Amino acid sequence: MVPETWTHVLSCDHSVAQEQWRAALSTLVTALKDKNTPPQVVESMVSGLSQWFSHTAVRPLPPTIGALTRPQTLLTAAFQSQSDIGWSSLLRGHLSTHWGGSV
Ligand SMILES: [Zn+2]
Repeated sequence: MVPETWTHVLSCDHSVAQEQWRAALSTLVTALKDKNTPPQVVESMVSGLSQWFSHTAVRPLPPTIGALTRPQTLLTAAFQSQSDIGWSSLLRGHLSTHWGGSV
């Protein structure tokens, strides 16, 4: 049995928890759009959170990896920085300061 830690509660793969996760992610996207967050930033955050939640990679891969324009490299840096801090940290309000520089 998996211990009911905070991280587990945020990333539980039970079907009911997954439904809740999708609803919460959708609420987050709506809130970010309401605050006029650039679509590329929203996309990066959703990608990182989704990869973290589904455990698809040991370390989530930025959707902008390898892209060479300045906005994309800044987004990649923000994404990597968030991976260093942890994606569950983002859900607790600990966002990388690099996100601010990426917009
Ligand atoms: Zn669980």
